[in-house]
Amino acid sequence: MLTRRNFGLAGLGLVAAAAGLRTASSHANEETMSTSTETFEITKTPEEWRKILTPEQYYVLREHGTERAGSSPLDKNYADGTYECAACDLPLYSSETKFNSGTGWPSFYKPLDNAIGTSVDKGFFTTRTEVHCRRCGGHLGHVFNDGPPPTGLRYCMNGVALKFSPKTDKSTG
Ligand SMILES: [Zn+2]
Repeated sequence: MLTRRNFGLAGLGLVAAAAGLRTASSHANEETMSTSTETFEITKTPEEWRKILTPEQYYVLREHGTERAGSSPLDKNYADGTYECAACDLPLYSSETKFNSGTGWPSFYKPLDNAIGTSVDKGFFTTRTEVHCRRCGGHLGHVFNDGPPPTGLRYCMNGVALKFSPKTDKSTG
């Protein structure tokens, strides 16, 4: 059965070639922007992901989709707590680094340590830096250079890819 994972493995050579040649093949571009070239601690088949994710979560996390701006309640959430990966629960961002970007997407100026990975997302008109969960590879959003101090970065996240865990008295990190 030709699963996405198998395809990713089979595409390794192609991806390597594309990285060197920057081929104009649109198909190759689609696959090079994906996170399938990395190895993640948590890997599942599409069927397994579909069982634990909502259709919206699957669309964003596994198919690099983008939620409608302003659609996530987390965009306006400024409570103290931690934002975790909706797919594998890895803590990704602290509420302390969240800011109102006015974009309609939850935005942060800094991720937690060892939380995310990035890849180059080369489109026809723009080159963006894609952001994904370093543990499961789930697509989270993009990072831009127009953020506030101290980093100057703006991690523009899909709220549907995040789970908010409110801070409790027991600080377990
Ligand atoms: Zn994850």
